[in-house]
Amino acid sequence: MAKKRRKRYRLKKRAIILIETICLIVAECVIHAIHKNKVKEEKERVVAEESAKQQKRKAELKKWNLLLVNEWNAIPDDYEIETAEVEDGYVVDERICDALKEMLEDCRDAGYSPIIISSFRTREKQQYLYDHTANKADTALPGHSEHECGLAADIIDAGSAGWSAPLIDEQEDMPAQKWLMEHCQDYGFILRYPKDKEEITGIIYEPWHYRYVGKKYAKEIMEKGLCLEEYIEQS
Ligand SMILES: [Zn+2]
Repeated sequence: MAKKRRKRYRLKKRAIILIETICLIVAECVIHAIHKNKVKEEKERVVAEESAKQQKRKAELKKWNLLLVNEWNAIPDDYEIETAEVEDGYVVDERICDALKEMLEDCRDAGYSPIIISSFRTREKQQYLYDHTANKADTALPGHSEHECGLAADIIDAGSAGWSAPLIDEQEDMPAQKWLMEHCQDYGFILRYPKDKEEITGIIYEPWHYRYVGKKYAKEIMEKGLCLEEYIEQS
């Protein structure tokens, strides 16, 4: 009898071990499946987030203030703007007028003397400038000038107004220009044609040409030392 009880006991024990082992395997499988599902969900979430980010970025790059105009990118044929006067008859896109006024005012309040010498140009005016310039390489083709978009202004220091040609590299040493180059991003402007970016922008270094892109983008572009082409390319 004792022998039979021992045998039953052993069988019972084996059965318990077997059931426990099966339970463990099932539990492991369930945990693995849950984990796999979570990893899959996480991957899908990351991909969806990345795609949403890219869509947002693409939409952002289509904003009017990030319009890319250069030798290789013409102003769209249907491009239209409303202009508003900044000062002395100089007009720009009305959407950037207040920002430009504020920048000039603050520059003057800081003790400097910036003056606008060029702002919005009609296609005819750009054509005239192009036809009459001695150096065509330094003048944007009609239809390819930011001035035709009303989003840019050429600003010089009043101290250089008497120079025979104020639009030269030395403009960067003038006090008003130094202030503008340091603070323009606070008003949404960038120095559009930086030094050493001529091959990318297609335009010589111009320490007087300020282009509106909006505060958020201006800060990023100026802090990273990029030109607009690079910023758009890397986005
Ligand atoms: Zn200019």
